[in-house]
Parts: sequence; structure tokens; C-alpha cells
Amino acid sequence: MLENLGRIRRDIGPITPELADALADAMNIRRGEVHEVTSFYSFLQVPVDTVRVCTGPVCDCAGARADGALAVACLGHCDLAPVRMEGDVVVDGVTHRTNGFLLQPDELREAPQVSPEHVLKELRRAGLTGYGGAGFPTWRKWEAVRAQPGPRLVIVNADEGEPGTFKDRYVLELRPQLVLEGLELAMRFVEAEEAYVYLREEYATARRRLEDAIAARGSPVHVVVGAGSYVAGEETAMLESMEGRRAMPRLKPPYPSESGYLGRPTLINNVETLAHVPAIVRLGGDAWPKARLWSVSGAVRRPGCYEAALDVTARQLIDEYAGGATSEIGAIVPGGAASGILPPGALDTPLTSQALNELGADVGSAALQVFPASYAPRRLLAETMRFFAEESCGKCTPCRIGNRALHRAFKGDLEMSRATIDEWLDTMEATSICGLGQAAPIPVRTAFRHWPDLLTVSR
Ligand code: SF4
Repeated sequence: MLENLGRIRRDIGPITPELADALADAMNIRRGEVHEVTSFYSFLQVPVDTVRVCTGPVCDCAGARADGALAVACLGHCDLAPVRMEGDVVVDGVTHRTNGFLLQPDELREAPQVSPEHVLKELRRAGLTGYGGAGFPTWRKWEAVRAQPGPRLVIVNADEGEPGTFKDRYVLELRPQLVLEGLELAMRFVEAEEAYVYLREEYATARRRLEDAIAARGSPVHVVVGAGSYVAGEETAMLESMEGRRAMPRLKPPYPSESGYLGRPTLINNVETLAHVPAIVRLGGDAWPKARLWSVSGAVRRPGCYEAALDVTARQLIDEYAGGATSEIGAIVPGGAASGILPPGALDTPLTSQALNELGADVGSAALQVFPASYAPRRLLAETMRFFAEESCGKCTPCRIGNRALHRAFKGDLEMSRATIDEWLDTMEATSICGLGQAAPIPVRTAFRHWPDLLTVSR
């Protein structure tokens, strides 16, 4: 359904109630189903050439104002903040700043013919984990899917949408062949005959380059384009979206490895994770230089995407990769909106989960955002909670209401005591069914931990 709605939007115009009814009749499904889906996604009811302005924290700090344009919670180009898109074109163009960008092989290459045992052994040796944010060991996922009865499928999760995170866009724009090579290895491993890439709508250049690479390799890979929902990046919400429903996460178990797309065992991997697999298989897990891609944005001279060690510090990323800070640093966010808000004292902490957990934070999607001292932590927190409030799918009451209430509280529109806030945070953590509601309390808790007088200061 999403594909049909996207095509109608591109060829005819925004999805009106009449167009939704016509599609339902043509697909022989209940009209309400199409209306539900249409109203769930941000972009289906606006023209393709709509001017969109990003209002995520990095863009907000850089002075972004919607001024009549469509305000969007994240456009995935934080390195170019403030970001404005006319249709699918980034105003002022796109620049890639990298440190050579790596991930190893760059030629058009066939995926090597290796046994499943070899692949599994090298993935284990490498210690590769999911780089989308959850950090689950890759070899375990692969093994779990292969253990299920066929037919099996593979999906590449290219729906990164968390403010500060744009590394997968770089990989798709600069190294689409590498993603496909990793995908082909994954398909061979789980004996899948076809695969899908679920790609966020704003990544038009990535889409073109990926489709060209698919055609050049002749890969049996279908590209599914999203329609402006952050939570669709949650793997079960993505399955719902691909099956033509609203992108609302499912209760787990069953996990996608058991029952995924159309009920089939499905391997779902992040873009960057797959892009590391060819090097691991070719070099061996022990020789693979344990590294990952860091999206670095905000108050630095060269915001961009840099490959660096897993235990790099924020100060090293800022000074040695991103050209240094542009002003005094007031706060950093180490790994995406849900990873926590930390003071400058954390600049020399290795950006590993283990070290960050001690500060109440986590590495998440490895998206370092640097904020100047002139940008108040309370405003940063308010804008972060606005993102969660706007992107909550609404299925769980504490997530739906809690994020909105917290956004209003930190914005100054709603009075809330610290005890009431803590009660909300506990409830959201305990009762939300997906990572959005479970992790949204992290920025609030870290902000209170490091700026205890947060509620008494103005924004
Ligand atoms: Fe939806 Fe939030 Fe519940 Fe996740 S936690 S399913 S985003 S309401």
C-alpha cells in the first residue's frame, strides 16, 4: 500500500480522501485501512515539492525557523544544519566530509564464496554488533534466522531518523556497492532469494545511487520508500509498514527472526552493519580494524561522518576529525536523541556503552552532537522531547502522553514537579512496548543528573 500511495503522491498529488477511496477500491480493501495509513505518515498528504525545514536540536541551535515551510522533526542531514529541502533537494547542496571513508573495498566486487561456518566464525571474532542503535551481536541474529525453516528474507534497515544520525546516508551515497556486497553475503548465509531495503523518504540521492548499484549488480533487491515516520525504523514497525499498515511496533516475541515480513523468518540489519561484513569476511574478524562510523554535527568546524575506533572520545572526534569546536562547548549528545545529554566534563570519556552507562548515557547510533554554551541545556532537552512527542506512534498511553507532557514542561508551558516527572519516566520505561518510549527518559534523567537545577532555570 505504501508503494501505491507514494506513486500516487508523486504522479497525481497529495493523497486526498477521494484518492484514498479510489486506491482502496482498486486494491479491494476496506477504505478505512487506506485512510488510517495515509493519516499516519507525515508526508503522504503534502505535495512532493513541499519546502521542508528541519527543526531537530542541531538545526534549532543553528537558527532554523520553519517560517511557513513544513517543519520536520529530522531530515537526516544534520551535518549541513540548518537544513532546508525543496522537494527532495537539499538547499545549498550536499557536501560529504569524511576521513577517507574506508569500510575497506571500494571496487565493484563479487561477494566472496565462503561457507556459512566461515562467515559465522569471522563475525563472532570481529564482535560486530548492530550499528543502528540497539547493538545486538550480528552473528547471533544471523544464526537465529538460519535456524528457522525457509523461505527466509533479508531486510536492510535504511530508515535512520534519529536527530544527529546521518552515517547510513553517507554509506548509501558513497559506498552503495559495499552495502549490497554485505547484503549478498547475508542472503547467501540465510539462503534468502530476495531482499528489501526500507529507505527513508528524505534520502533521494541515496535512493538513486542504491538503485543504480542494484541494477549494476543485478541483485534481487527491492527498495521500499518510507513516508516520514521515525518509529518505522523500529524493526517490527517497519514490518507493519511494509505490509501496508500504520508503522506501529508489534509486541515481541515473536521476533522477526522467527516471524518477520509476511510471517517469514527475516534477517533485519542496519546499513552500516552490512557494509562492514565484506571486510570482516575478507580480512578475518581478528584482522578487521574494530571501528564504526560517527556522525558528528553541531558546533564543530567540519561536521561530517568519520570512521574511528569504538572507544574514541568526543574530544578526539571534535579536535582530530571534525576540525575543532567553533565555540565554547556547553553540552554534548553522544549517540542520537535517546542517548543522553552530557556536560563538557564528559568530553574525555570513551564513547563506549560501558563508559557512557556510568554517566547514565549510551552510545546508541554513534551520533555526536556538539552544542555551544550559548544553547541552554533546558532548551536542548525541550527540543529533544518534542522530537519524541511528535514521533510517538501513540500505541502506548504513557509514551503518547508522557512525551508530550515532558516537552511542554521543559518548554515552560506546563508546571510539573520533579516527583511527577520521575513518576512519568518510571512509567514510560516500565510500560512502553518499544525503544522510543523506553529510551525517551534517558535524556531527561541525564540532564537532571548533570544539571540538577534544570527546572528552576529558564530556557
Ligand atoms: Fe509507539 Fe511509543 Fe509505544 Fe513505541 S513506546 S509503540 S512509539 S507509543
